[in-house]
Amino acid sequence: MRAVCLNDKKTLVVAEVDTPKADGEKVLIKVSRVGICGSDIHLWEQGQRIGLIMGHEFAGTVVDAGALKDSLKVGDRVTVLPLNPCGECEPCKKGNTKGCLNALAASPGITAPGAYAEYYLARPDMVRKLTDNISDDEATLIEPAAVALRAVRMSGIKPGDKVLVAGGGVIGLLSAAFARIAGASYIALTEANPLRGANAKEMGDVNEVFDGTDEQLLPKLVQASGGGFDYCIDCVGIAPVINAGIMALKKGGKMMLLGINYSPVPISGLMAVLKEIEFKGSIGYDREFDMVMDLMNKGILKATRFISDTIGLEGVQAAFEKLSSGQHQDVKIVIKP
Ligand SMILES: [Zn+2]
Ligand SMILES: [Zn+2]
Repeated sequence: MRAVCLNDKKTLVVAEVDTPKADGEKVLIKVSRVGICGSDIHLWEQGQRIGLIMGHEFAGTVVDAGALKDSLKVGDRVTVLPLNPCGECEPCKKGNTKGCLNALAASPGITAPGAYAEYYLARPDMVRKLTDNISDDEATLIEPAAVALRAVRMSGIKPGDKVLVAGGGVIGLLSAAFARIAGASYIALTEANPLRGANAKEMGDVNEVFDGTDEQLLPKLVQASGGGFDYCIDCVGIAPVINAGIMALKKGGKMMLLGINYSPVPISGLMAVLKEIEFKGSIGYDREFDMVMDLMNKGILKATRFISDTIGLEGVQAAFEKLSSGQHQDVKIVIKP
C-alpha cells in the first residue's frame, strides 16, 4: 500500500510499504480521511522516529472486522480511538485508560504505525462505528475535539462566564466552540496570525478576535471583558501569551494550560499570586472521545467547518511546510489517501 513516511527531519515521502494483514482479531480499515495534527508537525520538526507513518485522527471503512465480525460488517464506516492502553497497569485496572502507564509505548501514529496510509489495522476495542450523522471528514475532528472538550470540562466554565481563548488553531477554535456550548456569555480569542484571526471570527464561536501582537492588547481585553475574564484557555504555550492571559483574568480567575512547550516558561508569578490565579493543565482525553461522537451525532458540535483543505498523500510534505510557516489561514488539513 502507499503511505507517507517520516524520512528525515522535516521530510516526508510517499512510499510503498507492506499492507497490514487481517489476523482474525484486529480490524482492517481502508482509510478514507486522516487529519494532520499539531503533534505530527512537532514530530516532523524534530526528525525523530524516522520511518514512522503518522496519523491518528482518521476514519475509514471496514475491510475485515476481525474479532468484531458479529457487530461490524465489511464497508461499515468507522473511526478509531488512537490510544493503546495496556489493560494491566493500576490506572487501566481502575478504568483510567488515559492514565495507562504503558500506553505511550505504542501509540498509533505517534510511536506505532498510524493512518497516513491506505490501510490501518486497529485494536478492536478502540474501533468506533460512525453514525450517518458524522461524515468521514467530521470524524477526523473527533480526536482534537476530545482534547478541547476535556479542557473545557476540567475548567468548569459555566453559563454566563467570560472566556479568553489564546490561539486560533484547531484546539483553540474547538475550545471556543465548547465554551460556547457550555454557556459562556462572552468569548474573546487572541491570535498573532491575522489570517487565522480572520478565520476564527468567521467560525462564529468567538465574539471578538484580538491581535496577539498589539501593544494595546491588555487594556483592550480588560475593557472588552468589562474588567477581566473568568477563564483563560491557553492553546499556545509561550510566555508572552500566558502572561497576557494572567493579566487579562480577573481576581480569582482560572488559567487552563493546553499549549505544549518543551521548555520551561517564565510566568508573571507576582501577578498570579496577587490575583490568586488558579492554574490547571489538561492533556489528551479518554471518555471525551465518545462524548464528542455523541455531540456530533446530535448536531450540537458542528466541526466540518474547521477543515480548510483536503489533499492527497503527495501533498502532505507541502502541507506540513505550510502549516509550520505561521503565515497561512489553514486550521485543519485533511488527507484523502
Ligand atoms: Zn491529534
Ligand atoms: Zn495500562
